[in-house]
Amino acid sequence: MSKDKNKNDKKDYKVALLVVLLLVLLVLAIAIVFILGNRNNEEKKDDKTLAYTDLIKEISYGNIEKIEMTVGSTNVKVKMKNEEEEKKSIVPNTEAFIDLVQGKVAEGNEIELIQNPRGILERISSTLFSLLPTLIMVALFIMLFKMQGLGEKGKVYDDTERKTKVKFDDVAGLDEEKEELIEIVDFLKRPDKFVKMGAKIPKGVLLYGKPGTGKTLIAKAIAGEADVPFISMSGSEFIEMFAGLGASRVRKLFEKARKISPCIVFIDEIDAIGSRRSSNNGAESENNQTLNQLLVEMDGFSSEETIIVLAATNRPEMLDKALLRPGRFDRQITIPTPDLNGRLEILKIHSKEKRLSDDVNLESIAEDTAGFTGAELANILNEAAIIATKRKHEDIENDDIEEAVKKVTVGLEKHNRVISDHDKKLTAYHEAGHAVVSQYLPTQTPVKEVSIIPRGVTGGYTMYKSNEDKYYISKTEMKEKLIVLLGGRAGEKIALDDISTGASNDIEVATQIAKDMVTKYGMTDTLGPIDLKGKEDYEMQLFGETIGDKIGEEVKKLIDEAYVNAQQLLNIHRDKLDVIAMTLLEKEKINEKQFNEIFND
Ligand code: ADP
Ligand code: ZN
Repeated sequence: MSKDKNKNDKKDYKVALLVVLLLVLLVLAIAIVFILGNRNNEEKKDDKTLAYTDLIKEISYGNIEKIEMTVGSTNVKVKMKNEEEEKKSIVPNTEAFIDLVQGKVAEGNEIELIQNPRGILERISSTLFSLLPTLIMVALFIMLFKMQGLGEKGKVYDDTERKTKVKFDDVAGLDEEKEELIEIVDFLKRPDKFVKMGAKIPKGVLLYGKPGTGKTLIAKAIAGEADVPFISMSGSEFIEMFAGLGASRVRKLFEKARKISPCIVFIDEIDAIGSRRSSNNGAESENNQTLNQLLVEMDGFSSEETIIVLAATNRPEMLDKALLRPGRFDRQITIPTPDLNGRLEILKIHSKEKRLSDDVNLESIAEDTAGFTGAELANILNEAAIIATKRKHEDIENDDIEEAVKKVTVGLEKHNRVISDHDKKLTAYHEAGHAVVSQYLPTQTPVKEVSIIPRGVTGGYTMYKSNEDKYYISKTEMKEKLIVLLGGRAGEKIALDDISTGASNDIEVATQIAKDMVTKYGMTDTLGPIDLKGKEDYEMQLFGETIGDKIGEEVKKLIDEAYVNAQQLLNIHRDKLDVIAMTLLEKEKINEKQFNEIFND
């Protein structure tokens, strides 16, 4: 945020404060006038006061010499013919009273009727009083708008003056994706060229991908390459506070985009506004307004307005189909998690400004981090720098980075935690169970490290070498993965005839894999290759009512089978299980080389 904007925000804040202050003063003033007025009224209730009915009587008797009134006031002063002192009275309806008096005068009665202009105090008080509701409303509206204004300004990154400096070179990997997007850069730079050719220019590009895969980064890079401003907002920010605000924010965003076009508008988490319009609850209809506004805006650009809307989501299946129609987000690009080479490139980019020691092997770090996103890799290098500093290293060593990887994946080592011998034994057999089982399963990768030093929330861990990036996983591989996952519990059961909570995460992961096998990958004979994942109830009914039961049965069958297999393997190789567990109890941690030595002994 620039300094100017800060100043503006402060100014708005002051205005709002002033309005509130004025309002308070106003209310106070009115209260005082009111109290004073009331006191006057009370004073009138002595013997100098003439009741209205008596006043009317006196007038008709012809006893009144002079009546003095003030416009807008019901208080009147009355001078009787036979009395020195003036009396006061209150008339309920001044107009009717004046008519009455003037009628008497016309009849020939001598009554002097004086109508004074209003007194200052009365004039102010009555004016304020009649204006009060309006004033309060106006003040409230001003405050409301200021508040909305403040909220919005805080949220749109205002990069109109400071264009982004990010270039395609800052985005590692993603070569094919960049190639697809280069066209947009061209278009932003020279729209006329395309228009002349009669080419239809894309308005919206949807980027699909997990958080941290670089969607924002690449959107910024497009703006940077084209040298145009980048304005952005997050979908979740559109839906909050007051109803209708989301839509007005969308309108403002595009108003601004039109002013500074050519430009890039980036909407992060678009699923928050653009999710399917199914139910009719409040939040949903608020979404609809926002979504509709977005559609209106996108349909409304003319070809001279060079605005490209990029939007990001990791839940494409949630999106309202209306967003994907021609002329809207008709292009979709998937931003994948980086492959081996991509990870290496990302590690290189993010280690540029860091002091790496010569022993750092980024290739092997890239190998160990399959499935990591760009953001996670950047985070690992940052953690490594912190660890290196704590360890008082000259520069970042390979060990520091490896420790950072573990810290990010399993948490920090907790050497000080006190663990009972029984728990230690359970953990040792648990981890040994995983490790030994995996050695006998051909699709599984070799063990890299086994440890029973607590880390984060886990009591121990077994790390495997990552396999080269794969696009497909076979059913055999998934089944063997289940066996490895249940190998932990099997180890505890076989060696100690007891089981612990330590397997809870294994069970969670295994269940998820088994569910996916059944409902997503169609890997069972009974259910077959049918997509059953995350289906609505009514869709499920297409397949008959018992489908849920069948899914449950199949999942249970897969898990049971894997557990039996794991126990069988460990029973056969009980010697290996014991020796690994004992070594763990003794050393707490075994690396790849040590593991292989013990195992092959
Ligand atoms: P997303 O928008 O997909 O959630 P971001 O673009 O915000 O992800 O990425 C967060 C950070 O991760 C980036 O600022 C960058 O530091 C790093 N990063 C992610 N992907 C890449 C990449 N391909 N190349 C370089 N850095 C990356
Ligand atoms: Zn485990």
